[in-house]
Amino acid sequence: MVIIKTDREIKKMKDAGRIASKALKLAGEAVTPGVSTFEIDLIVRKYIESEGAKPSFLNYGGFPASACISVNNVVIHGIPSKECIIKNGDIVSIDVGAFFEGFHGDNAATFACGEISAQAQALIDTTKESLYEGIKMAKQGNRIGDIANAVQRYAEARSYSVVRDFVGHGVGASLHEDPSVPNYGTPGRGVRLLPGMTIAIEPMVNAGTHKVEILDDEWTTVTADGKLSAHFEHTIAITSDGPLILTLCD
Ligand code: MG
Repeated sequence: MVIIKTDREIKKMKDAGRIASKALKLAGEAVTPGVSTFEIDLIVRKYIESEGAKPSFLNYGGFPASACISVNNVVIHGIPSKECIIKNGDIVSIDVGAFFEGFHGDNAATFACGEISAQAQALIDTTKESLYEGIKMAKQGNRIGDIANAVQRYAEARSYSVVRDFVGHGVGASLHEDPSVPNYGTPGRGVRLLPGMTIAIEPMVNAGTHKVEILDDEWTTVTADGKLSAHFEHTIAITSDGPLILTLCD
């Protein structure tokens, strides 16, 4: 069931979104050669808690950290660790959620560490732009398939693939609500978008195959061919004035 939020609830989600966004920004600034993903996770957790909020992901389904930090061929759900040291040329996808006064904000971005290859930069740029292509379609009267198709078309036109095994989602008082928001699909299909719906659009775009594998830790999700992957996400509200991005901090 899709839960429609009141204007007041959307305002609260904006507060949660601001905290999630600032946490993501701080995490991105910490992406430097020699830092461990454990240290970045600590920055995220400390900031979120300093705002009186809670990291949405900590203990969610047993996830042991505050942020998912996924390096290079890791698509999503990378578990921060002291052993995972980031080096020059890596690309680092960070996914952060914050729970504040009853609502979640959820966002992600892929950051470059130092000098990265032109191919890696192009993948990052395409993934980020595909998110905004999806957001543009998040208008009342459109359907989920319009968002999904916009993301897919943008990425595939540039010879990338979109991950199918994981998708975006409704978000609100629960981190994951209906509807599912895939990054592939057919225009005009799926749930109709109404004002008050709040969804996380989150393209995961791969340089090679769209296929992914989950490692033995049951979280870390990697590309099946070992090639790079990037991930961007915003929480947005459908309003009568168009899409409203809730995960912004400046
Ligand atoms: Mg999400």
